[in-house]
Amino acid sequence: MARLKKSILILSFFVLSACSSLDKGLMNVTNGVSSYDSVTGERQLSLISEEEEIRKATERTAALLADAKEKDQKIDSDTPHYERVKRIFDRLLMVAHRQHLPWEIHVVEDERFNAFTIGGGKVFINTGLIDSSLGVRTDDELAAVIAHEIAHVTARHASETRTKLAVAQLADSDLKNQVFEASFTTNQEKEADKYAVIYLALAGFDPQSASEIWKRHDQKLGSNVGNLAYTHPIYDERAEEVAMHANTATNYYIPNQINPNQEELKLCNEIYCYEQAPEYKAGEGGGIVAFFDTLGNAFAESMDAKKEQNKRLLRKQEQQSLARRTVRVDNLQLKSLSNGQKQLVGKLVNTTTKNISSVKFTLMYWSQKKVILQMPIEKELMPREEFNFSIPLKSINFSNVSLTHEHVNFAEN
Ligand SMILES: [Zn+2]
Repeated sequence: MARLKKSILILSFFVLSACSSLDKGLMNVTNGVSSYDSVTGERQLSLISEEEEIRKATERTAALLADAKEKDQKIDSDTPHYERVKRIFDRLLMVAHRQHLPWEIHVVEDERFNAFTIGGGKVFINTGLIDSSLGVRTDDELAAVIAHEIAHVTARHASETRTKLAVAQLADSDLKNQVFEASFTTNQEKEADKYAVIYLALAGFDPQSASEIWKRHDQKLGSNVGNLAYTHPIYDERAEEVAMHANTATNYYIPNQINPNQEELKLCNEIYCYEQAPEYKAGEGGGIVAFFDTLGNAFAESMDAKKEQNKRLLRKQEQQSLARRTVRVDNLQLKSLSNGQKQLVGKLVNTTTKNISSVKFTLMYWSQKKVILQMPIEKELMPREEFNFSIPLKSINFSNVSLTHEHVNFAEN
């Protein structure tokens, strides 16, 4: 791929050098669809302008918060963690790139161990990131998660993902939206991990705390929808790699203090260095070089992203098939009670000798082929345990009720 790209580049350079008006045109096109990475200075394909990134993120934030309110979830200052989270976030922002963004952090009452970003400076933290048994233990660890999300934003990963999707779709019409937007690729995770340890160190948080989290979660988290391992895929060597970068970043760490040289160190340090992308001259073959350079990078990256997506789909299928083999629902039936109410009853059966730390089924009410209500059922099951459930049904019209086996988490041992 790289070799092919180069030969196209060289060939095109000679052919098109003579044709300067076309070259100028290409330069304009390229400038229109690319931007410079604010951390590394590389030219990247970007079909989404910063303005649009901000607009989309702002809209999505309003929708997410409205949704949480509707579900009676506490948000921001109604949760006990907001002040702490905001204080850490503000300190990290003092050393982050893209300071002009309308940065916001929101805390949402949700027991799942997760944090995520939708780009445009908007970061979300679930209360489960702090409260759950796997939760962060210190301010430094909380800072590590927040710094990681900030890094996804400063590297524009959310827009990159959308751009790659568009490019991949051009190359492969079979590719549909699917889970592409649900997660970042391994490359993006690596990038975010690298920038995050620098932000931590420069803001006076212990960069080693980042690897602690991954070490702990490597073994304990499944790749279930809604948890950190799902939105941030774990790869085998992640904890080790983060520990290595954290060691380097420790050189810039002054406990509880903003590093006085943070402005320069943020631009160039032992982990990454901002390099001005070469200036291509329009009309002298520079347009075509810039065009292929930008598109070639995006194409290679989009192929990586696609591979990543296939891997995730496979993992999900494996998990579902394990769930289907292991947990069974028996005797599912609809009962009418004497007071006219209805109940859905059934029995969950763990058919293996393994402890199941949680099994989560989603009960779906269907009406005219549309799901109109979903209700999760969650239960821990001991080996060979059976659990009788009965769920009162609201007085709604439905034509069918079905259960999906979505998540089965096996206890460790
Ligand atoms: Zn991530």
